[in-house]
Amino acid sequence: MIVIIGGGVVGTSIAFHLARRGNSDVVLLERGRLGEGATAYATGGIRQQFTSEVNVQLVRDSVRFFENFAEHTGSPFDFRQHGYLFLLDNEKQLTAFTEAARMQRSYGVPTQLLTPDEIAAVNPKIRVDDLLGGAYCATDGSGSPADATAGFAKAARKLGVDVRQHTEVVAIEPGKAVRTKEDRIEAETVIIATGPQARATGRLAGVELPVGPHRRQAFAIAPLPWLRAELPLTVDLGSGAYVHPDSSGGVIGGNDRDVPEGTDTTVDWSLTEPLIRALTHRIPEMEDAEIVRGWAGLREMTPDDHGIVGPVTDGVWAAAGFSGHGFMQSPAIGEQIARWLLDGKPSIDLDRLRPSRFGDAELAAEGVRF
Ligand SMILES: Cc1cc2nc3c(=O)[nH]c(=O)nc-3n(C[C@H](O)[C@H](O)[C@H](O)COP(=O)(O)OP(=O)(O)OC[C@H]3O[C@@H](n4cnc5c(N)ncnc54)[C@H](O)[C@@H]3O)c2cc1C
Repeated sequence: MIVIIGGGVVGTSIAFHLARRGNSDVVLLERGRLGEGATAYATGGIRQQFTSEVNVQLVRDSVRFFENFAEHTGSPFDFRQHGYLFLLDNEKQLTAFTEAARMQRSYGVPTQLLTPDEIAAVNPKIRVDDLLGGAYCATDGSGSPADATAGFAKAARKLGVDVRQHTEVVAIEPGKAVRTKEDRIEAETVIIATGPQARATGRLAGVELPVGPHRRQAFAIAPLPWLRAELPLTVDLGSGAYVHPDSSGGVIGGNDRDVPEGTDTTVDWSLTEPLIRALTHRIPEMEDAEIVRGWAGLREMTPDDHGIVGPVTDGVWAAAGFSGHGFMQSPAIGEQIARWLLDGKPSIDLDRLRPSRFGDAELAAEGVRF
């Protein structure tokens, strides 16, 4: 029996991929309702532009899955491939993104470097006079994390997975069982997929998973005449501020990338004024942006901004700490965990994500952060 703890987009994807491979001796335990954790607050971005090779490969494979989500799961999924455009205003950024784009292309991800004039051709509203260039990947995009979670869960249930909501795991006996308030469920394998709560869940098994919750907020804006849904999600890397156009206007955020650890999810409205200012510097017509709603959730950060994936102790596995990229990596994480458990090894080298890596001084953090 395999028990998955956590019914967010990652846990449901693992459940689906295991069952799809013919292993439906799987129980998924969610303390609340499916998808109510970090997944409920994610803004749905899916990008392959990372400096870390494993992150590029995971999202590249996830993009292929999202492109065919309905075929895989039987549920519709609106994957809008509007691209991501990173705007670069200094040599250091340009060098790092040029190297990263070369690496991404070697994995089949079609990232291009754009000149300021080419950026203006993509979106004439962008001020380009103080930019050195941009990095653009047309197959990046976005979709609904809630729809993905529901699609994975529905398909997993159909394939025989026992999905239990309102069932909190309170103890783990590694290699033997998990305990909920009511039950003891025998399980030789337990997968911790509890997002921002992974550190607490790890401690139930006597292991330390360095995942810290950090507030992340986002704001919906009313439609603007020029902000068409097909425009790329655009990130002003200098400030971190982004604008993510959608059919009802758009979502903005990104100037809170360095908040300290904590579980407070109160929206900090004082950040909206500097956010609009940063966006207006880059796109003068953002001055007219009207914020209609704001929300905040928790990102599950690790010390090097990479997920923690693999066996941790006797029969206990981790699939957590995706550092704000859990939705976009969820299909590939589910597939790789299923391969690893059922075939003995993953098809992508996941060593960079090994739970035991912390303390290895030479590991570089993910470089594309906003
Ligand atoms: C504002 C915001 C914007 C974001 N935007 C993006 C984005 O554009 N793209 C992207 O890829 N990611 C984004 N993220 C990050 C994304 O939300 C997470 O990476 C992802 O949702 C993690 O999924 P998960 O399944 O690991 O965690 P969760 O969704 O948190 O799921 C974990 C589940 O475990 C359950 N749980 C915890 N403890 C127990 C227990 N003891 N027993 C049983 N169940 C338990 C919780 O209730 C929860 O439902 C964003 C996050 C925020 C807050």
